Amino acid sequence: KTRVRFAPSPTGFFHIGSARTALFNWLYARHTGGTFVLRIEDTDKERNSQAFLDVIMDSMRWLGLDWDEGPEVGGNYGPYFQSRRDDIYLQYLEILRKKGRAYDKDGAVFFKVSGEKQVLHDAVYGDVERLEEKDFPIFRSNGTPVFHFVNVVDDICMEITNVIRGQDHLTNTNKHIELFKAFDAPMPQFAHIPLILKSEGSGKMSKRDRGALIEEYQQKLFLPEAVRNYLCLLGWNPKNGKEIMPIDEIISLFDFKGIVHSNARFDEKKMAHFNMEHIRALPIEKFSELACKAMENSGVNLAGGKDYIERVFKLAQPKAASMETFASLVSYFFTEDFAFDEAAKERVFKKGNAIERMRGAVEILSTVPSFDGDSIHAAFEKKAEELGIKFTEFFPPLRFAISGVASGPDLMPMLEVLGREKVVARLKKYLE
Ligand code: GLU
Repeated sequence: KTRVRFAPSPTGFFHIGSARTALFNWLYARHTGGTFVLRIEDTDKERNSQAFLDVIMDSMRWLGLDWDEGPEVGGNYGPYFQSRRDDIYLQYLEILRKKGRAYDKDGAVFFKVSGEKQVLHDAVYGDVERLEEKDFPIFRSNGTPVFHFVNVVDDICMEITNVIRGQDHLTNTNKHIELFKAFDAPMPQFAHIPLILKSEGSGKMSKRDRGALIEEYQQKLFLPEAVRNYLCLLGWNPKNGKEIMPIDEIISLFDFKGIVHSNARFDEKKMAHFNMEHIRALPIEKFSELACKAMENSGVNLAGGKDYIERVFKLAQPKAASMETFASLVSYFFTEDFAFDEAAKERVFKKGNAIERMRGAVEILSTVPSFDGDSIHAAFEKKAEELGIKFTEFFPPLRFAISGVASGPDLMPMLEVLGREKVVARLKKYLE
């Protein structure tokens, strides 16, 4: 049975690279019906903090990466904090000593390497052969155990079957193989995943790069499922030509064969695009719920009653680019005090006689017998024919006068939702 782990050291913010490692482990666990363990590698007491751990767990939960064992959920292989496993490490050190594979030197404890070449069978990179030439420390002179040692001991104790981690650990793996063999422990399958490069230039994405922290997406009201979907494709390719996919489909397709060898480049625009696609695909009830929250955050007062609000949201959903900007897209549905986009004004009034066309629109909109999209459209067509113009020429100044912007939801349903009273009043006010 598959057991994988995500093993962060809580020494900094939770960034895209860590999230993607957590995600791939989670995907593999869910794909195989196995267990996803969260293990906290907090042996470096000075650099670890509870605040960083909270951010990691918070972000993982936000992304929907639920762990089956670990902090707060427990499990049979605990403790899940390395800082609480000292006695286990001492027992394992004893094993190495008895086998003659550990000795003290300058107060530290060293591991005696085998002197044999080791072959790493990596699920992504294939076979990598290497000789670990020098003995290396496993306990420091201050008594604290070293990363390589605790990492392997825990993988043994926790019966980890697959180690999925960043390619930057590839050079450590030889040491780890030496240790697994020294303990006569079953070797997990390793899968090193490609690095994430920053959007421009060369180099690994670092936590200082824009868009690197998961928290930022949370704050900017990104849909967690959109961020997760995008992260899935940073180094993995479903090979079905699809990108936007529900998580269940990704889980069923996820395997090591799809992991690409070349490094993946982070693309902020693509992330925003995924977010948009996911927003537009939401069921209307869910979308309305998020829209209400977004409006509340921006301080727009939702006036007009439940039915009206729902109609506005439904109309605007296909035009929403993000939840962060959603309020500005629809604020004019809820207030008479909306702003006019002066930059767009020029474009809108570029064609002559716009004011006359607006006067014509007032007449049409005040007199059309039924204020529904189809009737309004027909009335504009008729009037345009009389005037010998294209009916669409009415629309840019009309839209601008009633919304303050040059684009937005489809105009006919928009007029219908706003209603005759508001539309005519706004037009008249604009013409004053
Ligand atoms: N604590 C290590 C890290 O954060 C874990 C490496 C591993 O997954 O084995 O990079």
